[in-house]
Parts: sequence; C-alpha cells; structure tokens
Amino acid sequence: MKNPRLEIDSIKLKENSEILAGMLHRKGITCAAVTKAFCAIKEAAEIFKEAGMDFLADSRVSNLKKLKDIDLPKLMLRLPMISEAEDTVKYSDISLNSEIETVRVLNKEAGKLNKKHGVILMADLGDLREGYPEEDDLIKAAEEILTMEHIEFKGIGVNLTCVGGVIPDEDNLGELKGIKERLKRELNTDCEIVSGGNSSSLPLIMEGRMVPGINNLRLGESILLGRETAYGKRIEGTHGDIFTLRAEIVELKTKPSVPRGKRGVNAFGEVPAFKDRGMRRMAILALGKQDAEPHNLTPIEDGIVIVGASSDHTVIDVTDYKGELSVGSEISFRPDYAGILRLTTSQYIKKVMVGSDGRKTECL
Ligand SMILES: *Cc1c(COP(=O)(O)O)cnc(C)c1O
Repeated sequence: MKNPRLEIDSIKLKENSEILAGMLHRKGITCAAVTKAFCAIKEAAEIFKEAGMDFLADSRVSNLKKLKDIDLPKLMLRLPMISEAEDTVKYSDISLNSEIETVRVLNKEAGKLNKKHGVILMADLGDLREGYPEEDDLIKAAEEILTMEHIEFKGIGVNLTCVGGVIPDEDNLGELKGIKERLKRELNTDCEIVSGGNSSSLPLIMEGRMVPGINNLRLGESILLGRETAYGKRIEGTHGDIFTLRAEIVELKTKPSVPRGKRGVNAFGEVPAFKDRGMRRMAILALGKQDAEPHNLTPIEDGIVIVGASSDHTVIDVTDYKGELSVGSEISFRPDYAGILRLTTSQYIKKVMVGSDGRKTECL
C-alpha cells in the first residue's frame, strides 16, 4: 500500500453510525449524517445509509454532488451562496437559510429546474453563527417563503457550540420550540423539521432532557470520534479509533537535539524552542503541514514524539520507541477532528477503507 494513507475502519464506522441513529430514532428524532469532515468520501457516506441514517448533510455543494447517487435526501448545511444557487437546488433537497434574498434566488433557480427546494430557517439562539437573532424577522421570512411557488417551508433549526461555544439546553432549545409554536399560531404553519443542533446536543438525549418537539439532529464529529462535543464525553459502545494515519520514514539518524549554527526563523516564520536532551534517534516522515498539523496527530505507539513539521516533512523523536524501525517503516497516528478534515482534504493522502476481513480498498 502506498503512503501516506488514512485508513478508515468501515466496521467501526458502521457500528458508531448504528448506535447514534438508534439513540435518536428511539426518541423519535431523525438524524442527518454529516459528511463534511471527511470530504464526503462516498464509500463512507454509503455506510451512513446502510446504518439507517435519514439524511446526508454537508456544508459544501461540491461534496453533495459526489453523493448524488446515494438514495437519501441531501441537506446543505452552510448558508448557500447566491452564486451557487443553481447547484444548491440541483444537488440538495433542503438547505439551511437565514437570508431571504438568497431564498428568493433559490426559488427562481428551482423554478427553472422545475423542482421544489426545501428550506429550513435558522435561528441564532446565542452562539453568533448563522441564523436570525430576532424571532420576528424569522417569522416574517417564513411568511414570505410560504408564498413562494418553488420553495417548500420545511421548518426551523439552530446551530450551537460552534463560534460562541454555547451549550444546548432547555432554555435555548426551548426558544426554538417557542418559534415553532409561534409559526403555528401566527401563520398556521407546521414545521416538519425542528433541527436542534449538532453533536453538542447529544448530552440532552443521553440524559433524557431533550426538549420535546425537537425532531432532528445533524451529527458529524460524534459519529466519527464517538464523543459528544459539549463536554467531550464518550458515547457508550462507540469507537474512537476509526481513523488511522500511516506515514513512512524517509530518514532515520542519530542527531543532536539542539540546532547548530546561527539561528533565524523556521520555514513558517517562527522561532522554535529546543531543549538540550543530548543525542537523539530522529526520523523524518514523508508527511507535512500540507497534510496535517502535528498538534492534530497523536502517535499511537509509545515512545514516539512529534518534534515539528514543515510543509512536507514531519520530524519525530523515536529514541524511546521499543520496536524495530528502519527507513521505509510506517508510523501510525490517530488524527483528531481537524486532523481528519485536513488529511482527507489533502490530495497527497491516500484514503483507504478497511473491511471486515482486513481487506483494504482505496477510495476514488
Ligand atoms: C458541521 C455542522 C454540523 C455537524 O457538527 P458536528 O459537531 O460535527 O456534529 C451540524 N450542523 C451544521 C450547520 C454544521 O455546519
């Protein structure tokens, strides 16, 4: 197998997906499985479908386009750009919105394609990312949407714990429920979807405190890493080791632990600090910041420490490693969320699905 490569354990991914889909479905909540952290690798998205997820969701239209042959409704997460309204309507069934100007253009484009496009209006309930901060403005937008020929008003949603770090609770999700009730009262409109957030809303379900009326969540990180994101607690039965990065040693030598000579800045304009630890066994990996930042990777085996990285090289200290190493050996890392994001985005990283029999298949 060629290196560097990111291996995805398809069995564990399916188990995590099934556990989370089941947890939501038992409460009458649908689950939109979010594919944006791994660039919507189709083989992984197909696992979401097999596991019983209700929607596929992504923040980029080009990712949703890759998933067009998977038979699940597609949800566009990021507010659509007006300049991509046509593709938004083409490749997603529903989009999250907070600007009526954009919805007007979506309506026009949907008309041209002779389609109906679903719209969920977002409320900003404190996190300061997308959404109407004022309920009245959201209601007014819904009123106009109800008159649009090619737009179907699907409901309302909120996104929390993204910019402001606000944690979902009975108060903010209670407000969302309040908006749903106002829409019914004032516009006689039902919300088919009341989308109560992302992986940070899971503790409410795990603790049996989910606000009634919330009937959808959009989950990404919790499926991939097996943790909710409000407090970082592990979700029972799930796996945290679905993704493994393998990088290859291209140099292995004993070197001093402190640079020699007059010093300026490194490749990224920083002045790095070094501690004198004598002579050390050092390895260079064919992997760099273009593929992942060192702080987003954790060496899986004991005795390996990441010293630093430039665009295409990562230096590791392997002095305390107990196993055999030589030039050409593979070193394995566990990436965090940002690591998975960057590694799957890098065109230099091979993406490989690992099946039940251990068979490895490169993703296209
Ligand atoms: C990324 C995103 C999600 C998924 O968030 P996770 O924390 O990965 O579960 C949900 N909703 C929106 C709008 C998003 O942008």
